[in-house]
Amino acid sequence: MGRKKLAAGNWKMNGVKASLGEIEALVSAFTAPPNCDVLICPPATLVSAMVAVSRGISIGGQDCHANASGAHTGDISAEQLADAGASAVIVGHSERRADHGESDAEVAAKAEAAWRAGLTAVICVGETEAERDAGEALSIVGGQMAGSIPAGATGANTVLAYEPVWAIGTGKVPTLEDIAEMHDYMRAELAKSHPAEAQNIRFLYGGSVKPTNAAEIFAVSNVDGALVGGASLKAADFGGIIKAASEA
Ligand code: PEP
Repeated sequence: MGRKKLAAGNWKMNGVKASLGEIEALVSAFTAPPNCDVLICPPATLVSAMVAVSRGISIGGQDCHANASGAHTGDISAEQLADAGASAVIVGHSERRADHGESDAEVAAKAEAAWRAGLTAVICVGETEAERDAGEALSIVGGQMAGSIPAGATGANTVLAYEPVWAIGTGKVPTLEDIAEMHDYMRAELAKSHPAEAQNIRFLYGGSVKPTNAAEIFAVSNVDGALVGGASLKAADFGGIIKAASEA
């Protein structure tokens, strides 16, 4: 079974109601549905408004609490995201791991919370620049995968995003050979931990993906799409990445 490409956008802490015009521009730019899946993860404040204008684009959250409800001021549960119309949620983004000290075990609990609410979990992993320079990129990502991907992961409920921390928002991108090495390694690791589903789970590359480099990245072995930050904020840029995913 082939894995359909996925173009996923992460708006991070950007966007207000006026930004919904970008989504309207994006959907009206496509006269026919693209030949790939599209997901946009806006700030939680915009999830339900974006669902209302998204016309076939899936909408997701950027994080969820592991619990369904309770005394967790400021947090959002997977069930609340689902109630707002989300169909997916990013968990373990490096900015959450760094800013909020999220451990692999917490990320795994959030992925299970996503499944409990019927959401797809987009589980993020990736090494820092110091770790890559030390020759530890594969072992760091392998360890994050072992700790962050629960046993129940399937192609239907999970997407894995490889995002080298040093490539996020910097304009720096690993070589295509380095991306291939990592994604091939991840597939092999998943085949050991999740043998029945390893070929079904999609792997996104994330880190300074632009319309200008998307096509070459999508052609790399075991790259099934992209998780895109900055370039997902503008309809013209994200539209170019969706087009590249459609044609890959
Ligand atoms: C991200 O935040 O997940 C990301 C990949 O950001 P950018 O595309 O801006 O590097």
